[in-house]
Amino acid sequence: MAHISPELWALAAEAERDLQTVFQNIRETSSRNTERVLEAFASNRVSESSFNPTTGYGYNDAGRDRLDRIWAEVFGAESALVRMQLVNGTQALTVGLFGLLRPGDIMLSVSGKPYDTLEEVIGIAGTPGDGSLRDFGVEYRQVELSADGSFDYPAVKQAVLDAGKRLKMVFVQRSKGYLDRRTLHVSEIGEMAAFVKSLNPNVFFTVDNCYGEFVEDREPTAVGADLCIGSLIKNPGGGMAETGGYLAGTAEAIRLVSYRLTSVGTGAEVGATLGQNRNMYKGLFYAPHTVSQALMTAHLAAYVFGKMGFAVEPEWNVPRADIIQAIRMGSPEGMISFCKGLQSGSPVDAFVSPVPCPTPGYADEVIMAAGTFVSGSSIELSADGPLREPYLIYMQGGLTYESGKIGILSAAQAVLDDGLARLR
Ligand SMILES: *Cc1c(COP(=O)(O)O)cnc(C)c1O
Repeated sequence: MAHISPELWALAAEAERDLQTVFQNIRETSSRNTERVLEAFASNRVSESSFNPTTGYGYNDAGRDRLDRIWAEVFGAESALVRMQLVNGTQALTVGLFGLLRPGDIMLSVSGKPYDTLEEVIGIAGTPGDGSLRDFGVEYRQVELSADGSFDYPAVKQAVLDAGKRLKMVFVQRSKGYLDRRTLHVSEIGEMAAFVKSLNPNVFFTVDNCYGEFVEDREPTAVGADLCIGSLIKNPGGGMAETGGYLAGTAEAIRLVSYRLTSVGTGAEVGATLGQNRNMYKGLFYAPHTVSQALMTAHLAAYVFGKMGFAVEPEWNVPRADIIQAIRMGSPEGMISFCKGLQSGSPVDAFVSPVPCPTPGYADEVIMAAGTFVSGSSIELSADGPLREPYLIYMQGGLTYESGKIGILSAAQAVLDDGLARLR
């Protein structure tokens, strides 16, 4: 990597010295999570036959059903549905919402606005008649987080009591996603779940778990959530799963959502795996480690870009609750430079220069760097952001820390070469 200057390598070495304790803690979490995954593999007797493909209906796919049980065990849930037929996190969340909510029910978000792509699913954006939850008579309500980013308990209590018997679901988004708030910790989510259940034991406490998996040593389902939902081309696919999503939760919640995924009555009994089982098992096996590599890459990025004078969120020494790192580039040129550099340090399409372009669902042009093996995979090193004030780049992923480091240093070098910052 001749394009990276000796000064930047030296800065990375300095970062690694300062980050020793942080990295050690990340490794310890990865160890505990790996242990949990291996225990589940062993107790469910994973063998070569678990990887056999099925076609057609996919009846009696033993490997698929076994992976569901392993997933449930790892997530501290009663049951799980892990499927390549779930095309992304948004569809997995959609299946979860439509699977549990009925006409007249109320869905209450207690972590403010949900992820952008859910707005049309819920019906707070988009076109009436397209088939959102609202079209089917499901009412959506929302409680904001407090100014310090924690749950607003008095407001939640009021909203739960106001909704009364019609309240069917309380919804939490664990990760900040692309919002200007902090990510919630699993312990906080567990306390909120207990609080809500004490007011109304009949609700489904549901968590959008995207980008949070394996960052801590347990998942929200292990501390009282009824349903946890996410994407396999983010954290829990370990960079190995080529597509898919998951839902984990109580037996009743998973039964209902499985009816929505396929058909009522058929549920989880069908779904050919077409040879994808091996990747999905391998992905779960790798996931705790891969997440640790992405976390270390995020800390390094915060350190390097912080030293170059950019505002970063979170700061380099703050323990993470998800894998996303925001860097305030401050100008369109800064964002373009960053993405160009990151892309040049990626394993795929290193020769490509990203340019901003219009993107469905966004008012502003978006720039994106993604030199990934799996299209759109964001457990692989990637970055994006809309070209608007304050010109924030969101970066995440890194299958290996070593390659993540090269990607980050390549981005830093591009920004330096373009005269947009200086090393101090
Ligand atoms: C990524 C993400 C989703 C789902 O997005 P997909 O691109 O459809 O997988 C939902 N919520 C959050 C917080 C996310 O980060």
